[in-house]
Amino acid sequence: MEKTKIGIVICDRYNTCAGGKCFRSAASREGAFSIYKDQEIEIAAYTTCGGCPGGNIEYAPEEMKKNGVTNIHFATGFLVGYPPCPYIEYFKKFIEEKYGMKVIFGTHPIPQKYFTTHTNLNTWNNEFLKESIKLTLEDEATRISYD
Ligand code: SF4
Repeated sequence: MEKTKIGIVICDRYNTCAGGKCFRSAASREGAFSIYKDQEIEIAAYTTCGGCPGGNIEYAPEEMKKNGVTNIHFATGFLVGYPPCPYIEYFKKFIEEKYGMKVIFGTHPIPQKYFTTHTNLNTWNNEFLKESIKLTLEDEATRISYD
């Protein structure tokens, strides 16, 4: 079976994160990793965006591509930070245009505590944002297990 190589980019405000939730959900194919059900995957790269406005987005994909990465995931922190990253749409277009790589929004399921606060804030209030969190929504029990 062909293996898909994945690169994860995290929002720099969580730059000390060891990736526990991302690696866990990749192993269990939860959240955005559910798109690889029944597929072999390898997380071949992990880095931060470099801090606002995401300077590392310009260069990191090139190095990832050299190691065979085809799919870049923006970690769920991009979507659930306060506020969510305002640049995700541009970053995705840029990476797809310049490097021809696929960009997927999200990694692990949204933790319930973030889901609750953002729902109360009405953060995901347009079609683009609603679409961007789709793969990471999961059900409430799964979200609670990621709190
Ligand atoms: S908000 Fe966006 S650009 Fe800023 S640190 Fe987070 S991911 Fe990077």
